[in-house]
Amino acid sequence: MSYCVAIDGPAGAGKSTIARQIAKKMNLIYVDTGAMYRAMALFLIREGVDGADQEEICKKCEEADITIKYENGEQVVYLNGENVNAFLRTEEVGKMASVSSPQPRLRKKIVALQKRLAESADVVMDGRDIGTCVLPDADVKIYLTASSSVRAKRRFDELTAKGENCSLEDIEKDIVERDNRDMTRKESPLMQAEDAILVDTSDMPVNEVVQKIIAICMEKRGI
Ligand code: C5P
Repeated sequence: MSYCVAIDGPAGAGKSTIARQIAKKMNLIYVDTGAMYRAMALFLIREGVDGADQEEICKKCEEADITIKYENGEQVVYLNGENVNAFLRTEEVGKMASVSSPQPRLRKKIVALQKRLAESADVVMDGRDIGTCVLPDADVKIYLTASSSVRAKRRFDELTAKGENCSLEDIEKDIVERDNRDMTRKESPLMQAEDAILVDTSDMPVNEVVQKIIAICMEKRGI
């Protein structure tokens, strides 16, 4: 049986930064599930699919083959054989991922891939439905959150550091909209699993959050 740490939470809570560091320190494979929904979104954008057309999304997602490889410790997402990592972290792709991810057929495909990954290695997996749907028997479940203003500021700093021109107000509006969509969808909505531990990172530096989660993992293992 492999070891699994599930980290769920809203956009910008720091899941990927934290999960990546935990993976390093605990010698686990980091599985970024958002990247898989983003790869599917990229495919839909390239195919000219309208994000509001659920029927078309349902049909088209069957044509996308998404596979994951680990190269130099980093997750690489292949879309129909092409390494698409460089195209996934844009606002356009994030938005399309958020409107297409409620589609049950699309989720079924991606969740099957995530389950296979977790069966074959010890993982820390982050997303929205990991503790509730993908890995309900995960060894440790964390629900990572922060206030929407803190999360918006983090994303704003990230984007401006990359040289992108953006407004803090628009980013916060977008984050609130995205959370709302993720939390209210019928299929696998974002919510805290009953047995998940809530960690609010609003006033916590990254290293403190990492230490706290590692301490939770150790305690659960009886170390
Ligand atoms: O975490 P990230 O911003 O990369 O996720 C993009 C979108 O993918 C989310 O807004 C959500 O709609 C979807 N997603 C999901 N389930 C996951 C991970 C991401 O529905 N496990």
